[in-house]
Amino acid sequence: MSKEIIKLAARNLKKAVPLMLKHQIPTTPTNYALWYTYVSEQSPELNKRLDTVIEQHHTCPPVNAEMLYREYVSDPIEVDVLDMRQNLEAMVTELSHSLKDTNVDATQFQRRIDSNFDKLNRIEEEGVSLEKVLGIVRSLVKESDDIRSSTQYFTGQLSKAQQEINALKQQLEKSEQIMLYDALTGIFNRRAFDNDLRGSLSQSPDGLCLILADIDHFKEFNDNYGHQLGDQVLKVVAKRLQASCRDGAKLYRYGGEEFAVIIPKSQLGSSRHLAEAMRRGLEKITLKDRRKDVRINKITASFGVAQWNKNLEGAELIEQADKLLYEAKRLGRNRVMPIPS
Ligand code: GH3
Ligand code: MG
Ligand code: MG
Repeated sequence: MSKEIIKLAARNLKKAVPLMLKHQIPTTPTNYALWYTYVSEQSPELNKRLDTVIEQHHTCPPVNAEMLYREYVSDPIEVDVLDMRQNLEAMVTELSHSLKDTNVDATQFQRRIDSNFDKLNRIEEEGVSLEKVLGIVRSLVKESDDIRSSTQYFTGQLSKAQQEINALKQQLEKSEQIMLYDALTGIFNRRAFDNDLRGSLSQSPDGLCLILADIDHFKEFNDNYGHQLGDQVLKVVAKRLQASCRDGAKLYRYGGEEFAVIIPKSQLGSSRHLAEAMRRGLEKITLKDRRKDVRINKITASFGVAQWNKNLEGAELIEQADKLLYEAKRLGRNRVMPIPS
């Protein structure tokens, strides 16, 4: 993390909070991210639109905030987590600066702050871990507590910083949650799938089955009725598949129009039956689009089902299910492979 970025984060942080107070914006994570983006001037269009909203309403009503957030604070994973980590680091810098301004003998405290700062940098290199970040925040707050009584000025600074840290902490938690869900369908995403499969295979892999499903000729929905209707199909398929998930079976959006189901402690036979039930469920879907006056009732998918055994790595298990799925496509689609007995 370069010093420039930290300085920039601190500067934006200092600008965003007073603006939010001035316009009476509630300090929710969404608003925080929105105003952070505003002061960083990443998107002139966002700034223009937010200015207009403020002019009209003398604040930014939650509906407008939510809409602007969705439109402009594009990828919540990138923005939130990266910014949050930068902000936490900026906060550390702030704290240590405010200490320098006091008469307190801060050498020892400074050393501890620096060590936490190093840890934050290491987190940046090693990837996101909420636990680690929170651990450091906690120790920072604790160490700050030790000398909190030293001066009035410092106490004020500290409680402000703590409030900001709390807000950031909440936002970080929310971001980590968002990271596991697919924005379009609301089901778990590929990242969650990778985590869960790795976790299951390292803890209790016995009997684990994997279903991979791919919507048949999905491209035609897009080509014939437009991308938006394609999205509608994805949503309704996800919903229907989710409704079929029982006994610990967990559904993920694996890719564009591909879904995966992990079933722990199962048997190949019953997992094939689950896939078959899912396949039939999709056949029953009717989707109406009134504006376009279309009615879609031919949504089908092909399925491949594989079971873990001790000779298989995670990637090989996926490969097996994928091969069977491909086989189902080759044999004419809308079927489960191996054929349920
Ligand atoms: P097959 O039966 O062989 O699977 O044919 P297919 O048309 O389903 O497969 P293909 O891989 O040719 O096309 C998949 C298409 O899905 C291509 C891509 O544009 C579309 N797609 C991927 N993600 C999304 C999405 O989020 N929304 C929409 N509307 N389309 C998507
Ligand atoms: Mg596909
Ligand atoms: Mg397909």
